[in-house]
Amino acid sequence: MNKKEEIKKIRDEIWDLKESPLYAERVANNAYPVIGEGSHDAKIIFIGEAPGKNEAATGRPFCGVSGKVLDELLAHIKLARDSVYITNIVKDRPTNNRDPKPAEIEIYGPYLDRQIEVIKPEVVVTLGRFSMEYVMRRYGLEDKIEAISKIHGKKFKAKASFGTFSFVPLYHPAVAVYNRTTLPDLKEDFEVLKIFL
Ligand code: URA
Repeated sequence: MNKKEEIKKIRDEIWDLKESPLYAERVANNAYPVIGEGSHDAKIIFIGEAPGKNEAATGRPFCGVSGKVLDELLAHIKLARDSVYITNIVKDRPTNNRDPKPAEIEIYGPYLDRQIEVIKPEVVVTLGRFSMEYVMRRYGLEDKIEAISKIHGKKFKAKASFGTFSFVPLYHPAVAVYNRTTLPDLKEDFEVLKIFL
């Protein structure tokens, strides 16, 4: 299977994931799961938390207010959105955008693992603490887990089946939606990624 076919297989499985605690709500709301978007050959993969209202209505990650901030942050380092891959740890929208539950992270996590295995990124960037903790546990960095306020913008090395990758935990763009004065700090954090471009 080539990358496109593998990603499509992941998509089909998530579409049919009736065991998910969020499946019934997706169907009831006529909503979409959000699989991911971007280049399957991306050097950098961004992993957010879970779809919000706009994302669940369109099936596209980061297309609402947080997406606007993410677009600004990508533009700040002149990184084209279509050259990266953008996804989330949880693929369906949690009720009223509440925090994802451990059971939800557990059920969707393996699909994220497979996306990473297919894309084979050089750099994994998490946005927010849920994807940060998931990736750190999954790729042998559990000993380095600290509060996101302590380790945001730091670089780590991690090992996957396809080789090593750099891992950079960043704040979630929603931080600047709630408090616009944080935007310059988020921009500065994003500058860490310039060394990979
Ligand atoms: N927040 C996320 O974490 N992901 C999205 O796709 C949108 C908002």
